[in-house]
Amino acid sequence: MNKLNIILLLLWYILLINLVNVNASALTSCLAPVKGQTVYPNNNTFSTLIVDENIYVSYTPSVLVYAANNNDVQTSVNCAVKLKMGITARSGGHSYENYGLGGRNNVMVVDLTNINEITIDSKSQTAKIGAGNKLGVIYDKLSQAGFLIPAGTCPSVGIGGHSLGGGFGMASRKYGFASDNIISMEMVDANGNLLKIDNKTNSDLFFALRGAGGGSYGIVTSFVFRIHPTPPQVTSMTLQFDINQVHQLFNAYNEVGPSLDNNIVLSLSLDTGILSIEGLYLGSSKNAKNAMNTFLSKAPKPTSSEFKQQTFFDSVVKFSYLSSNEVKNPKHHPYFFKAKSFLVNKGLTSQAIDSIVDFLKNANCNGFALFDLFGGATNIVDDTSSFIHRDVLYGIQLLSSWETKDQSNKCVKELNDFGKEFQSKFTSYFSYQNYIDRDLDDWQTRYYGHNFKRLVEIKSKYDPNNLFNFPQSIPVKV
Ligand SMILES: Cc1cc2nc3c(=O)[nH]c(=O)nc-3n(C[C@H](O)[C@H](O)[C@H](O)COP(=O)(O)OP(=O)(O)OC[C@H]3O[C@@H](n4cnc5c(N)ncnc54)[C@H](O)[C@@H]3O)c2cc1C
Repeated sequence: MNKLNIILLLLWYILLINLVNVNASALTSCLAPVKGQTVYPNNNTFSTLIVDENIYVSYTPSVLVYAANNNDVQTSVNCAVKLKMGITARSGGHSYENYGLGGRNNVMVVDLTNINEITIDSKSQTAKIGAGNKLGVIYDKLSQAGFLIPAGTCPSVGIGGHSLGGGFGMASRKYGFASDNIISMEMVDANGNLLKIDNKTNSDLFFALRGAGGGSYGIVTSFVFRIHPTPPQVTSMTLQFDINQVHQLFNAYNEVGPSLDNNIVLSLSLDTGILSIEGLYLGSSKNAKNAMNTFLSKAPKPTSSEFKQQTFFDSVVKFSYLSSNEVKNPKHHPYFFKAKSFLVNKGLTSQAIDSIVDFLKNANCNGFALFDLFGGATNIVDDTSSFIHRDVLYGIQLLSSWETKDQSNKCVKELNDFGKEFQSKFTSYFSYQNYIDRDLDDWQTRYYGHNFKRLVEIKSKYDPNNLFNFPQSIPVKV
């Protein structure tokens, strides 16, 4: 390299360093009015604060803004617009593809952890819930007041991403998805305005957010949910079966599933050599046994079964496999994983069951499959919701996990290859958007079906410059 080239290279470095510093200082001064904490990459704690649940994909943001209130969120949005930066909301950090960190590097992450008030109005049976709350905390607080919302079983999932994409759990056949129970929301839009959203005000956003809202339209800071009285006792059910009777068990699931009492949710799980069902009945064990009678008369005889009568909150603890204390104070359990979602309308055929059993048996990575019985209230069509999966018998989640980064490519490829073929041969065309999957083709239709076009129109009305975007966000144009 000659002298001139060396000098030019040095000058280029100096210019680059200055540009980075100018941008960094512009960002710091723009965010100065924020009351909550702002954490930059040069902070010692930064690297630990960007470890979300799935460590298979990771991104490095430019800053983490721990918003303390709506104003902080508004300031952050205004700064992102001014500095032409990407911006993303993070509630619980449980996106399967780490979209809570933006799905790319160098974005501003607005973390909502500290917007976590929960105000319960027992009389109107509603609760205002800050978007930074985790499910475990919500279950705890609502249970203490004698209420529940239908939502997922993992306590550290955030209510933000979860309820904006659906939210299925052990009370869903009775009360629907979490998103079905949202009555109103507050959201900071791309202009930095705080919008009130309900069935009458900004009703198009009300429709879009309840099913397709995670990350695409703005930052939701709070929700008002319809809450439901907890029965005095519920019954958790654990049934183990001989893996050789998998076909008979699926026959019972397919046949009796649709007519099963809506107080019941069942989740069948298939692992290498293990076949079991976990379930919840919203009532006493005596009634649970009665309600399960027809199913059990068609199913193979369980090798073990337990019907445990307990409080609703104790059932939440049971299905979390964590301590009660951790459910109330949830934390991440980061690991390497990838998942596929399939939705089934009429039940799997014998050939489909064999195919999934064989895959699990021969896979190089740790796989298991869950078959959550939908139906009941989850299948009620609601034209104020963009959630389309309303004719589903069960939702399948096929998950693969592994121990070290160098296994990632092999494990992901194996799952992707199987998933593509399985979905094309044996299930409906559709997938559940909360199990978001960057490798899914035609995700626009598979997640949002006939609503996609309308979702795009709403996006272009509220966020025409596509400020809120990530690799699978609703675009401004079809
Ligand atoms: C261990 C585990 C267990 C799970 N169990 C269930 C289950 O039982 N049932 C079920 O239905 N799903 C379940 N999920 C899936 C879960 O519902 C989704 O991953 C959900 O998107 C996570 O939300 P989050 O806020 O925790 O994640 P984040 O990563 O914080 O956010 C996910 C997406 O939503 C956006 N977002 C988050 N908060 C807001 C907000 N306030 N405003 C606007 N956009 C926002 C983010 O930008 C991102 O795009 C589970 C996931 C994991 C990892």
